[in-house]
Amino acid sequence: MSVPNEPSFRESVDLMFNRAVALMDLPPGLEEKIRVCNATYTVRFGVRLRGQIHTFTGYRSVHSEHMEPVKGGIRFAMGVNQDEVEALAALMTYKCALVEAPFGGSKGGLRIDPREWDEHELEQITRRFAYELIKRDLINPSQNVPAPDMGTGEREMAWIADQYKRMNTTDINGRACVTGKPINGGGIQGRTEATGRGVQYALQEFFRHPEDIKAAGMSGSLDGKRVVVQGLGNVGYHGAKFLQEEDGCLITGIIERDGALVSDTGLDVESVRNWIGKHGGVAGYPDATYVEDGASVLEKDCDILVPAALEGVINLSNAERVTAPLIIEAANGPVTAGANEILREKGCVIIPDMYANAGGVTVSYFEWVKNLSHIRFGRLGRRQEEARHQLIVDELERLDEYSGSTWSMTPDFKKKYLRGAGELELVRSGLDDTMRTAYQQIRDVWHAREDVTDLRTAAYLVSIGKVADSYRALGL
Ligand code: NAD
Repeated sequence: MSVPNEPSFRESVDLMFNRAVALMDLPPGLEEKIRVCNATYTVRFGVRLRGQIHTFTGYRSVHSEHMEPVKGGIRFAMGVNQDEVEALAALMTYKCALVEAPFGGSKGGLRIDPREWDEHELEQITRRFAYELIKRDLINPSQNVPAPDMGTGEREMAWIADQYKRMNTTDINGRACVTGKPINGGGIQGRTEATGRGVQYALQEFFRHPEDIKAAGMSGSLDGKRVVVQGLGNVGYHGAKFLQEEDGCLITGIIERDGALVSDTGLDVESVRNWIGKHGGVAGYPDATYVEDGASVLEKDCDILVPAALEGVINLSNAERVTAPLIIEAANGPVTAGANEILREKGCVIIPDMYANAGGVTVSYFEWVKNLSHIRFGRLGRRQEEARHQLIVDELERLDEYSGSTWSMTPDFKKKYLRGAGELELVRSGLDDTMRTAYQQIRDVWHAREDVTDLRTAAYLVSIGKVADSYRALGL
């Protein structure tokens, strides 16, 4: 989505980058080296479907190879174009650096409306696109590792992994060529929910810092906060569901393609999702008010706005009317550079995309490591950990009996304590740690430097600093 007189998505990312590097002291030439996109491959290929050949256009862009493999999702959408994949690839570089996932940045896209094709047709198209990328090492466990993005999910990733295997029959690490796969196809527990879970962890961390809550003109905890979400897809659905079910947030607005639902008493995320699954949109959902002009609900009075659909939705045309004091960018690039300035001046705090939606690539990193190590996380240590905990519990109970005290452990505590960590617990723990650590690094810069007035600039400073360090280590 773009508005006349506004820079493109890639220019918007570059503007935000430039704003940050102006505050840094990088050696001459390095700034340009980091900013530019290394290469973008465009492919046009034909697939015979419904009695004729259909030609599709796809891209794979590699922004930075300071670390390899490079990483970034593959998007299936009609709006896909070179500018967009390059912007998204750049964001991947900064995102990976920020959360210390050891990858360079990349992104891919196929200009297609996946809803227009049936499953078998989509499989043929995806495999053909994957074939084009694999034969050029643009999908490869050690060079370029895609993941899901808008319009794709574990099904597409499974097809891509299988296509790679067919073309590289002896590659023992072949499964690591793509992440976001289904569990029985080499995936990892907790990957599907990871980006939404990361959004939840990011908000939990934000609300651990009273100074930051105050900066947004807010008070209290996440409990009871009114949240508006745009896009109830993978990221928006999981994020909203966890915030509602685990943090006591009230989801007062859900914006989808065909309009929005609003309810001041809160919408049930699971039931709206089921409704969309059955009816293809939100219209007609019984327990809420339907608003045909969905985008207008971005301006609704709320505490937290979660754009989780597309880029450029908060732009010069509506930024002035957006009233949320806190925006968390679950989608990539939902706020344009121009809108960012307007919102910053209004005192709105924006938790930026490169941090807010980094949960996906973080758990993708864990999946890649799992594939390369050929063993499930927790498989070796879990029972040993349980046995050690059992020893302590037995000993405490023995001492208790011996001293004749009436003190005893609650059954719930005992059950939780005795349970060794399986893969899902370990993934969540690693993700939570990543989100907390990265936020603390950003907020330190935000509060320590007078010339840094927002979290986005702080995030750029931290991540560009890390990329620059990698280049320095390479002797560049
Ligand atoms: P998705 O395809 O699962 O969901 C997108 C949702 O947005 C769908 O429900 C769709 O109907 C809705 N939507 C589309 N156009 C809309 C419009 N004009 N108004 C309102 N809703 C609209 O995609 P996703 O994977 O959830 O990705 C969403 C965003 O998050 C993208 O910006 C993507 O780059 C970003 N992201 C995704 C991941 C991931 O792991 N999937 C990771 C990082 C960032």
